[in-house]
Amino acid sequence: MKVVTAPDKLGGLIDAVPKQLLLGGTWCDAASGATFDVVDPATGDRLASLADAGTVDARAALDAAIAAQDAWGRTAPEDRAAILHRAFDIMTARTDELAAVMTLEMGKPLGDARGEVAYAAKFFRWFAEEAVRISGTHRMAPSGRNHILTVREPVGPSLLITPWNFPLAMGTRKIGPAIAAGCTMILKPAAQTPLSTMTLGAILLEAGLPAGVLSILPTSNPGAVVEPLLRSGGIRKMSFTGSTAVGRLLLEQAADAVVRTSMELGGNAPFIVFDDADLEVAVTAAVDAKMRNMGEACTAANRMFVHETIVEPFVARFTERMAALPVGNGLAEGTAVGPLIDQAAIDKVQRLVDGAVADGATVRIGGSRLPGIGHFYPPTVLTDVSPASEINGTEIFGPVASIQSFRDEEDVLRRANDTEWGLVGYVITTDLARATRVSGRLQVGMVGLNTGVVSDVAAPFGGVKQSGLGREGGHLGIDEYLSYKYLSIPASAPVPIGGLS
Ligand code: NAD
Repeated sequence: MKVVTAPDKLGGLIDAVPKQLLLGGTWCDAASGATFDVVDPATGDRLASLADAGTVDARAALDAAIAAQDAWGRTAPEDRAAILHRAFDIMTARTDELAAVMTLEMGKPLGDARGEVAYAAKFFRWFAEEAVRISGTHRMAPSGRNHILTVREPVGPSLLITPWNFPLAMGTRKIGPAIAAGCTMILKPAAQTPLSTMTLGAILLEAGLPAGVLSILPTSNPGAVVEPLLRSGGIRKMSFTGSTAVGRLLLEQAADAVVRTSMELGGNAPFIVFDDADLEVAVTAAVDAKMRNMGEACTAANRMFVHETIVEPFVARFTERMAALPVGNGLAEGTAVGPLIDQAAIDKVQRLVDGAVADGATVRIGGSRLPGIGHFYPPTVLTDVSPASEINGTEIFGPVASIQSFRDEEDVLRRANDTEWGLVGYVITTDLARATRVSGRLQVGMVGLNTGVVSDVAAPFGGVKQSGLGREGGHLGIDEYLSYKYLSIPASAPVPIGGLS
């Protein structure tokens, strides 16, 4: 395994990141005066102290969102689109800076971080284009007595909650459609990675977003901010991306005030390699689907199923590719695998690997946390993993490939669908009939066919079963922030058929 070390810390960048709450267009300290620290997962160094929002700040943000909603909802779509276009341009121009901030707080390699900045910015461009295409419908009532006109209106003040693993893209995938639809927003970033979000807030103000439309509440105590907002009756929409466990809790809280929800939750993606697969395609897709973001992705290949007749050649090539991935500080050019987010993440990955080995799995490479400072875990390949092992029934969220063999299509479909999650599945085959058959029967919201990457701003992202509710991105993404209003408009009185004879 190749280990790379970091260049000097880009400390000046962090100095430029806003450290206060964004409340109704103004940067300010938390009402309590409290702060919390953000830490570099590669070194353990403190990067910054941020204002730590609490319930009082949440109330102030809600008041601002409610006050701004009516006028903001009546702005011209082309004006909202222009703000999003400007934000896209600023993000694109500042790619290197945004990527470095993200790498410092989250750990992902700079190349991945630059990719995320581009992906994140494209949500702004996409939803700028959607803002000016919001449409309703017309139909004539069967009685002929009235026109049925449906128009679409912003759903209202929205609470947006994002995870730490894609701190920019998960933000823009929500902010973009909310701006396009004319909703005001309160955004609560993950405590581990708020710096990217704070920078995004400054960019949106620079792009011309009016005061009050967006508040940002970083906090070390998410329950103190989120629960009172959900129960307040003032929030009309929650869009959450995070774990299924927290998602369930927030759905309960949202039920009180009947808040509309979009839930992008966890995954347990099957990655299926059939015996007719092109082995090079299979290995490339497997590395992509497993190692993007160090495996800390909801779309990560969590259970790899390889046909028993090709499992050995597949494992040999895949293991060689995994072993060649340089591990190190994400700031060093050439790093492919950065640190995991925190000690708890390392502990969980190690527990899952140890459990799989105790159940009979073989470690081909890796398998033990790396000694020293930072939360580094090496690329790991496990084979002969028992279906009963815990690693099959939970998100690994680390650079560990867990491989089992299978005998036939029925066998693998049964095992692939044997999970409470249903976000994405990957199918590697050169047989078109099999590809369509298996894609149709996988219980997932998305299928990657001969590819390890499904994310695209133009595609509807989301899952079935306990992977969530609703879709983000694509044409459907803006629907989540719009409600329908039907207008009944009297028509001229219909002529009776009998009156014609
Ligand atoms: P998490 O559920 O721990 O946290 C997500 C967000 O919820 C964070 O902002 C966190 O501060 C907040 N939160 C946590 N506890 C809360 C509470 N009691 N009340 C209110 N808010 C609370 O998830 P995470 O560890 O940040 O992210 C990883 C998870 O996100 C994984 O399960 C991953 O699969 C999922 N994810 C899903 C998608 C998707 O699009 N489906 C995308 C990225 C990540």
